Amino acid sequence: MKHSSFNVTEQNQRIESRIVVALERISEAFRVLLWNESKERSLSPIQIQILIFIQFHSTEKCKISYLADEFNMTKATISDSVRVLLAKEMLSKETDPSDSRSYTLSLTNQGRIVAKEVSFFASALEKPIDKLSAEEKSTMLNGLLNLIHDLNRSGVISIQRMCYSCSNYSKENGEHYCNLLKSVLADNELRVDCPEHQLPAGN
Ligand code: SF4
Repeated sequence: MKHSSFNVTEQNQRIESRIVVALERISEAFRVLLWNESKERSLSPIQIQILIFIQFHSTEKCKISYLADEFNMTKATISDSVRVLLAKEMLSKETDPSDSRSYTLSLTNQGRIVAKEVSFFASALEKPIDKLSAEEKSTMLNGLLNLIHDLNRSGVISIQRMCYSCSNYSKENGEHYCNLLKSVLADNELRVDCPEHQLPAGN
Protein backbone atom coordinates (compact mmCIF):
# COMPACT_ATOMS: atom_id res chain seq x y z
CA MET A 1 0.00 0.00 0.00
CA LYS A 2 1.24 3.49 -0.88
CA HIS A 3 1.73 6.03 1.91
CA SER A 4 1.55 9.77 1.55
CA SER A 5 4.30 11.29 3.67
CA PHE A 6 2.09 14.37 4.03
CA ASN A 7 -0.92 12.51 5.49
CA VAL A 8 -0.54 13.61 9.11
CA THR A 9 -2.22 10.53 10.59
CA GLU A 10 -0.03 8.09 8.65
CA GLN A 11 3.00 10.32 9.07
CA ASN A 12 2.84 10.02 12.84
CA GLN A 13 2.94 6.20 12.53
CA ARG A 14 5.96 6.14 10.21
CA ILE A 15 9.42 7.56 10.86
CA GLU A 16 10.19 7.37 7.10
CA SER A 17 7.36 9.80 6.38
CA ARG A 18 8.45 12.13 9.16
CA ILE A 19 11.98 12.18 7.73
CA VAL A 20 10.60 13.03 4.27
CA VAL A 21 8.56 15.89 5.71
CA ALA A 22 11.55 17.10 7.74
CA LEU A 23 13.66 17.14 4.54
CA GLU A 24 10.91 19.09 2.82
CA ARG A 25 11.15 21.69 5.62
CA ILE A 26 14.92 21.89 5.14
CA SER A 27 14.50 22.38 1.38
CA GLU A 28 12.07 25.18 2.25
CA ALA A 29 14.77 26.78 4.42
CA PHE A 30 17.16 26.71 1.44
CA ARG A 31 14.50 28.22 -0.79
CA VAL A 32 13.82 31.07 1.68
CA LEU A 33 17.51 31.82 2.31
CA LEU A 34 18.30 31.81 -1.40
CA TRP A 35 15.27 33.95 -2.16
CA ASN A 36 16.29 36.53 0.49
CA GLU A 37 19.76 36.74 -1.05
CA SER A 38 18.25 37.00 -4.48
CA LYS A 39 15.99 39.95 -3.54
CA GLU A 40 18.92 41.77 -1.97
CA ARG A 41 21.12 41.34 -5.06
CA SER A 42 18.49 41.72 -7.78
CA LEU A 43 19.57 38.34 -9.13
CA SER A 44 17.41 35.23 -9.56
CA PRO A 45 18.06 32.22 -7.31
CA ILE A 46 19.53 30.23 -10.21
CA GLN A 47 21.81 33.13 -11.18
CA ILE A 48 23.17 33.10 -7.62
CA GLN A 49 23.65 29.32 -7.77
CA ILE A 50 25.52 29.63 -11.09
CA LEU A 51 27.89 32.27 -9.68
CA ILE A 52 28.62 30.12 -6.63
CA PHE A 53 29.13 26.99 -8.73
CA ILE A 54 31.57 28.73 -11.08
CA GLN A 55 33.49 30.16 -8.16
CA PHE A 56 34.26 26.73 -6.73
CA HIS A 57 34.49 24.38 -9.71
CA SER A 58 37.02 23.69 -12.44
CA THR A 59 36.76 25.30 -15.88
CA GLU A 60 35.66 22.16 -17.74
CA LYS A 61 32.51 22.04 -15.56
CA CYS A 62 31.61 25.68 -16.26
CA LYS A 63 29.67 25.04 -19.45
CA ILE A 64 25.97 25.45 -20.19
CA SER A 65 25.33 21.72 -20.61
CA TYR A 66 27.11 20.79 -17.37
CA LEU A 67 25.27 23.53 -15.45
CA ALA A 68 21.95 22.32 -16.87
CA ASP A 69 22.65 18.78 -15.59
CA GLU A 70 23.98 20.06 -12.28
CA PHE A 71 20.84 22.07 -11.54
CA ASN A 72 18.40 19.68 -13.26
CA MET A 73 17.24 22.43 -15.62
CA THR A 74 17.02 22.82 -19.38
CA LYS A 75 19.93 24.32 -21.33
CA ALA A 76 17.58 27.10 -22.49
CA THR A 77 16.82 28.13 -18.88
CA ILE A 78 20.51 28.13 -17.94
CA SER A 79 21.40 30.05 -21.12
CA ASP A 80 18.86 32.77 -20.24
CA SER A 81 20.38 33.19 -16.76
CA VAL A 82 23.92 33.18 -18.15
CA ARG A 83 22.94 35.86 -20.70
CA VAL A 84 21.86 38.16 -17.83
CA LEU A 85 25.09 37.51 -15.90
CA LEU A 86 27.14 38.26 -19.02
CA ALA A 87 25.18 41.50 -19.54
CA LYS A 88 25.79 42.44 -15.90
CA GLU A 89 29.49 41.78 -16.48
CA MET A 90 29.68 39.19 -13.72
CA LEU A 91 30.64 36.43 -16.16
CA SER A 92 32.82 36.26 -19.24
CA LYS A 93 32.93 33.50 -21.82
CA GLU A 94 35.70 31.86 -23.77
CA THR A 95 34.80 30.06 -26.97
CA ASP A 96 36.16 26.56 -27.52
CA PRO A 97 38.59 26.87 -30.51
CA SER A 98 37.49 23.42 -31.78
CA ASP A 99 33.74 24.16 -31.57
CA SER A 100 32.49 27.74 -31.96
CA ARG A 101 29.08 26.82 -30.41
CA SER A 102 30.70 25.68 -27.15
CA TYR A 103 32.20 27.97 -24.54
CA THR A 104 33.37 27.97 -20.93
CA LEU A 105 32.30 30.56 -18.39
CA SER A 106 34.39 32.31 -15.78
CA LEU A 107 33.85 35.03 -13.20
CA THR A 108 34.90 38.60 -13.91
CA ASN A 109 36.40 40.62 -11.03
CA GLN A 110 32.94 41.99 -10.30
CA GLY A 111 31.43 38.47 -10.49
CA ARG A 112 34.08 37.15 -8.11
CA ILE A 113 33.20 39.76 -5.49
CA VAL A 114 29.46 39.01 -5.73
CA ALA A 115 29.99 35.22 -5.82
CA LYS A 116 32.11 35.37 -2.67
CA GLU A 117 29.45 37.36 -0.82
CA VAL A 118 26.45 35.27 -1.89
CA SER A 119 28.27 32.00 -1.21
CA PHE A 120 27.41 32.48 2.47
CA PHE A 121 23.66 32.39 1.84
CA ALA A 122 23.24 29.02 3.64
CA SER A 123 25.33 29.92 6.73
CA ALA A 124 22.22 29.96 8.93
CA LEU A 125 22.05 26.18 8.42
CA GLU A 126 25.60 25.62 9.67
CA LYS A 127 24.82 27.05 13.11
CA PRO A 128 22.29 24.39 14.23
CA ILE A 129 24.41 21.63 12.66
CA ASP A 130 27.38 22.90 14.64
CA LYS A 131 25.49 22.17 17.85
CA LEU A 132 25.23 18.43 17.08
CA SER A 133 27.71 15.99 18.57
CA ALA A 134 30.44 14.54 16.32
CA GLU A 135 28.56 11.23 16.25
CA GLU A 136 25.25 12.87 15.32
CA LYS A 137 26.96 14.79 12.50
CA SER A 138 28.56 11.63 11.16
CA THR A 139 25.25 9.71 11.29
CA MET A 140 23.48 12.58 9.56
CA LEU A 141 26.13 12.83 6.83
CA ASN A 142 25.97 9.09 6.12
CA GLY A 143 22.18 9.01 6.04
CA LEU A 144 22.10 11.93 3.62
CA LEU A 145 24.85 10.48 1.39
CA ASN A 146 22.96 7.19 1.09
CA LEU A 147 19.76 9.05 0.30
CA ILE A 148 21.42 11.24 -2.38
CA HIS A 149 23.14 8.19 -3.90
CA ASP A 150 19.84 6.30 -4.16
CA LEU A 151 18.05 9.30 -5.67
CA ASN A 152 20.88 9.64 -8.18
CA ARG A 153 20.74 5.94 -9.13
CA SER A 154 16.99 6.07 -9.59
CA GLY A 155 17.34 9.11 -11.87
CA VAL A 156 15.57 11.67 -9.64
CA ILE A 157 18.64 13.89 -9.43
CA SER A 158 21.50 14.03 -11.92
CA ILE A 159 25.22 14.65 -11.48
CA GLN A 160 26.76 13.70 -8.15
CA ARG A 161 30.42 14.01 -7.25
CA MET A 162 30.30 11.99 -4.06
CA CYS A 163 32.48 9.10 -2.90
CA TYR A 164 29.71 6.51 -3.39
CA SER A 165 29.50 7.27 -7.12
CA CYS A 166 33.26 7.53 -7.67
CA SER A 167 35.45 4.98 -9.47
CA ASN A 168 38.16 5.58 -6.84
CA TYR A 169 35.88 4.49 -3.99
CA SER A 170 35.84 1.01 -2.51
CA LYS A 171 34.60 -0.53 0.70
CA GLU A 172 36.33 -3.44 2.33
CA ASN A 173 35.58 -5.01 5.69
CA GLY A 174 33.26 -2.09 6.42
CA GLU A 175 36.00 0.50 5.72
CA HIS A 176 35.67 3.21 3.08
CA TYR A 177 38.78 3.58 0.91
CA CYS A 178 39.87 6.15 -1.69
CA ASN A 179 42.20 4.59 -4.26
CA LEU A 180 43.27 8.03 -5.49
CA LEU A 181 44.21 9.48 -2.12
CA LYS A 182 45.42 6.00 -1.08
CA SER A 183 43.71 6.50 2.20
CA VAL A 184 40.99 5.05 4.40
CA LEU A 185 38.10 7.50 4.77
CA ALA A 186 36.35 7.66 8.11
CA ASP A 187 32.54 7.93 8.02
CA ASN A 188 32.83 11.65 8.71
CA GLU A 189 35.37 12.16 5.88
CA LEU A 190 33.20 10.93 3.01
CA ARG A 191 32.84 13.69 0.40
CA VAL A 192 29.70 15.13 -1.14
CA ASP A 193 31.36 17.28 -3.83
CA CYS A 194 34.89 16.10 -4.52
CA PRO A 195 37.11 17.89 -7.07
CA GLU A 196 38.87 14.58 -7.82
CA HIS A 197 35.64 12.62 -8.33
CA GLN A 198 35.73 10.26 -11.32
CA LEU A 199 32.70 8.53 -12.79
CA PRO A 200 33.08 4.78 -13.26
CA ALA A 201 33.68 3.68 -16.89
CA GLY A 202 30.49 3.62 -18.96
CA ASN A 203 28.84 6.53 -17.12
S1 SF4 B 1 38.42 10.75 -5.38
FE1 SF4 B 1 37.12 11.99 -4.04
S2 SF4 B 1 35.04 11.23 -4.41
FE2 SF4 B 1 36.46 9.72 -5.20
S3 SF4 B 1 36.65 8.25 -3.51
FE3 SF4 B 1 38.35 9.73 -3.40
S4 SF4 B 1 37.64 11.29 -1.96
FE4 SF4 B 1 35.83 10.14 -2.64
